[in-house]
Amino acid sequence: MNSATLPIGSPDVLVVGAGNAALCAAISAHENGARVLMLEAAPFEERGGNSHFTGGAFRFAFSGVDDLIAVLPSLAQENLANVDFGAYAQEEFFDDLFALTQYRCDPDLAEILVRSSLDTAKWMVRQGVKLQPGLGRQAYQVDGKFKFWGGLALHIWGGGPELLKALYANAERRGVRIIYETPATGLIREGGRLSGVMAEHCGAPVAIPARAVVLACGSFESNPEMRARYLGPGWELVRVRGTRFNMGAGLNMAMSIGARPYGHWSGCHAVAWDINAPPYGDLTVGDQFQKHNYPFGILVNARGERYVDEGANFHSHTYAKYGGEIVKQPGMFAWQVFDAKVSHLLRGEYRIRRVTKAEAGTLEELAAKLDGVDPAGFLRTVREFNAACRADAPFNPNILDGRRTHGLAIDKTNWANPLDTPPFHAYQVTAGVTFTFGGLKISKRGEVEDLYGRIIPGLYAAGEMVGGLFFHNYASGTGLMSGATFGRLAGRSAAEFARKSAKMR
Ligand SMILES: Cc1cc2nc3c(=O)[nH]c(=O)nc-3n(C[C@H](O)[C@H](O)[C@H](O)COP(=O)(O)OP(=O)(O)OC[C@H]3O[C@@H](n4cnc5c(N)ncnc54)[C@H](O)[C@@H]3O)c2cc1C
Repeated sequence: MNSATLPIGSPDVLVVGAGNAALCAAISAHENGARVLMLEAAPFEERGGNSHFTGGAFRFAFSGVDDLIAVLPSLAQENLANVDFGAYAQEEFFDDLFALTQYRCDPDLAEILVRSSLDTAKWMVRQGVKLQPGLGRQAYQVDGKFKFWGGLALHIWGGGPELLKALYANAERRGVRIIYETPATGLIREGGRLSGVMAEHCGAPVAIPARAVVLACGSFESNPEMRARYLGPGWELVRVRGTRFNMGAGLNMAMSIGARPYGHWSGCHAVAWDINAPPYGDLTVGDQFQKHNYPFGILVNARGERYVDEGANFHSHTYAKYGGEIVKQPGMFAWQVFDAKVSHLLRGEYRIRRVTKAEAGTLEELAAKLDGVDPAGFLRTVREFNAACRADAPFNPNILDGRRTHGLAIDKTNWANPLDTPPFHAYQVTAGVTFTFGGLKISKRGEVEDLYGRIIPGLYAAGEMVGGLFFHNYASGTGLMSGATFGRLAGRSAAEFARKSAKMR
């Protein structure tokens, strides 16, 4: 193969990708004295990967308001009398990670993620990222008071777009150059150690030498062939919530030089997503095709039947696995059905212009409007559901209120209210994949291991490419924290490696 070299010199650390994990790696490597270059597959206008699409949920452990003030000083000036932030102890973060992953989460990775999460949040703030309270998303107002639930008190202000604006500005200030429309295609290895990356630039192969390489170029969620191969039949048909560029290239190029696959390769994060959303994410809509308030209504499939416990937990603990339940339903769709009693609890994503919605004054009228659903089955389901609701616990969206149904094949175990107050409204959803769980095995320093557990000298990975953190399910806000934590770690380690290898030469 003919290959040229880009006229960019040879960086100490080459970072592949330019989303949250990659930018954190680049900033951290530069902070640790390295000359850094970034390669991004997307054009400038589509830069930022999945990170660009996020709403900004950002999970970290905190022991009280003082920790929150440390990352958001303006909070001290707010009137907090009506806000109960509570606390999210490291132990609770561990419990969430382990319970949601059915105790498969790699303990070393969990230890790094959880123990350093507050420090990582502080580091992000020092890099220029701003935070804000997640009112309305993670706290409801009950009796005049907001109470936070689910461990997510602060979000990134302005979501993905502002997160990236801050990180890009930071990288630019540091003189870190990003080369767009230049996908990495392979890793160059000399004498057992990484010596650079092959990439494609303006249609031609180029070799880019580097002392160390950080792969932070996403998982394989955008690639239908890999989804079908690893997640199973049907998954090639789902919508992709974010970038069209995460084709699994980084995973494939690492595995082709002997990197060790790790984690839940047949698992992914997938949510309820508007049935008419485009095949890949649309940056003008961001994450708003999602429909996360199903705990306050019921979910029915084409037979008009319920198929999961909508109230099994807060949405932040079920939404990432319930997308996969939609894939199993006939026609791969569902309707989320609510009545007027809970309309005020539905987030803005239910009121966007591009929403697939049906509304009616009676359940019979609604049944006729639910595209693809057996009306008789639907009416039977609602009749049985309404009759099974018990009013012995008061409805409270801020807690697992135990207001449940009794005696159904699939009970709803919290927030169960009969559907009896018009107007009734319903939203048609399909599955939208967010990212895939399979990744690479990394060491505690972010180094990529080979098939036999040895370090591949000079190769690091971060973000969605890290395997072993998520299995079966996921707690919202962990993706950005994981990208920041392991990106920062990989950047630091790669800079140290580059420094040592420069001395050796
Ligand atoms: C709609 C949506 C909402 C979300 N909301 C949240 C949230 O609120 N909180 C949260 O924590 N997480 C959220 N997530 C998950 C979160 O976005 C990801 O976990 C995280 O951003 C992944 O970061 P990353 O840097 O690993 O990958 P990405 O941000 O996807 O970056 C990967 C980059 O690599 C580039 N790339 C791919 N292949 C190549 C190649 N061969 N060469 C060079 N570059 C390449 C891509 O173009 C991309 O820019 C959401 C995701 C989506 C899609």
